[in-house]
Amino acid sequence: MTDGTPVELLNFVSGAWRRSSASDRSPVVNPASGTTLAEVPHSAASEVDAAVRGAAAAYPAWRDTPVVERVQPLYRLKAILERDLDEIARGIVEECGKTFGEAKGELQRGIENVEVACGMPSLMQGINNEDVARGIDEHMFRQPLGVVTAITPFNFPGMIPLWFLPYAVATGNCFVLKPSERVPMTTQAIVRACEEAGFPPGVVSLVNGGRPTVEALLDHDEVRAVSFVGSTPVARAVYARATASGKRAQCQGGAKNPAVVLPDADLDLGTRILADSAFGCAGQRCLATSVAITVGEAREAFTERIAEDAASRRVGFGLDEGVQMGPVISGESRDRIAGLVETGVREGARVVVGGGPAEVDGYADGFFYHPTVLDGVEAGSTLSGTEVFGPVLSLMHVDTLEEAIALVNDRPFGNQACVFTSSGASARAFRREVRAGNIGVNLGVAAPMAFFPFSGFKESFFGDLHAQGAHGVEFYTETKVVVERWPAQWTRTF
Ligand code: NAD
Repeated sequence: MTDGTPVELLNFVSGAWRRSSASDRSPVVNPASGTTLAEVPHSAASEVDAAVRGAAAAYPAWRDTPVVERVQPLYRLKAILERDLDEIARGIVEECGKTFGEAKGELQRGIENVEVACGMPSLMQGINNEDVARGIDEHMFRQPLGVVTAITPFNFPGMIPLWFLPYAVATGNCFVLKPSERVPMTTQAIVRACEEAGFPPGVVSLVNGGRPTVEALLDHDEVRAVSFVGSTPVARAVYARATASGKRAQCQGGAKNPAVVLPDADLDLGTRILADSAFGCAGQRCLATSVAITVGEAREAFTERIAEDAASRRVGFGLDEGVQMGPVISGESRDRIAGLVETGVREGARVVVGGGPAEVDGYADGFFYHPTVLDGVEAGSTLSGTEVFGPVLSLMHVDTLEEAIALVNDRPFGNQACVFTSSGASARAFRREVRAGNIGVNLGVAAPMAFFPFSGFKESFFGDLHAQGAHGVEFYTETKVVVERWPAQWTRTF
């Protein structure tokens, strides 16, 4: 804000920062204070077209740039992001509501993807065989696609754009980013870092906006591939629209992540880890545990411990000392969470701790919600299957590991499932049988490192190749196979 006027956010097109001509704009709000930080334009189709055409114009020269040169700006980007880590993290706290530690952590996970993509000279190597038949050799090359785009959600503004950008550009594509209109300021910082890192104009572009901006990207003939992260209904729609026009698409959706607590688990450790999973980032991680399923005797001890942890968690603005949990993203989100908790209670659940909006001294207009534990949530109830995306942990109870696994598999989402046990055999049975893409064993947030795919099954993922690591390299390249014959009698003598 300058003189009470919200900062106007810009697009980055063909290497220049440009004001959007869109009259449709929305405020970017600090969810802890309710203060308007900036105004984000909802770019029109013509502005998307300009960004994509700028990227397409930059593509031939970028594709011809040797991969060893293409990764040089990424090395510089890593150094710039590390230099500016605290400042960018403070911005994430301001617009997204995390604690400072959470914000630094997510940016660090993003930087790890930049590091991995710096290995692109090796990662995108092809394969070959000499003499697949007599005198015939066969080679497989990886070539970039052209212009690719990513559409990202509000909950990890520092990390999620970096799940895609480094792999896309290092493989030789030109990349157009459309961040969440609720947290677009962090993206401005990341794109400024890319500008400083020295990518040629048009290699990295940014267009701000919401649904119409996304649809203009999905419908653009020059866009070859779409990466999306967000809620399941939108992921499904984006996947359908992108693939209908022949684009490649990888669309990560929502979640309802279960964790199974067996009676032989280390309950002190398990409760600490699960509390962080359920209430960290105010429950707005796609890997947040939102249902804990106790088995047998774990029920009483776990319920008691998790309730104590939830009740003692300090809620507030993420830059204030000692705060362990920030607000949720908006008043609308807080009200939706409250509504789902009420529905849960109507359907027979009991509030053990929390169960309503929280008031924080000095932040009367913030969107805070108490860390909440609900017991006796029934299979098939609204709460057992609906993504809450807030600090609400539902408890369910069964008698055997087999019943727990059946309950885990009886849900539409498959982003993450965790088990807490000291038995290797139980852990092995769990990881083999459970239908989820990311599995945690004595871990509550099983976030794959940058050199592993960020997996996801069922309604949590639409596509074939996931984000990060080798999957990212495959997603952003097409494979060309060359079979060649060079008869010996054609050898010239000079
Ligand atoms: P969202 O679906 O509302 O928005 C995501 C993006 O899509 C934004 O950029 C938004 O502008 C755009 N968008 C919104 N509606 C659209 C529409 N109808 N058509 C086209 N584009 C549209 O998601 P969100 O609220 O920003 O993020 C939270 C969701 O993301 C949660 O469901 C969470 O589980 C999910 N998420 C999943 C993962 C994962 O890895 N699977 C990671 C992070 C977040």
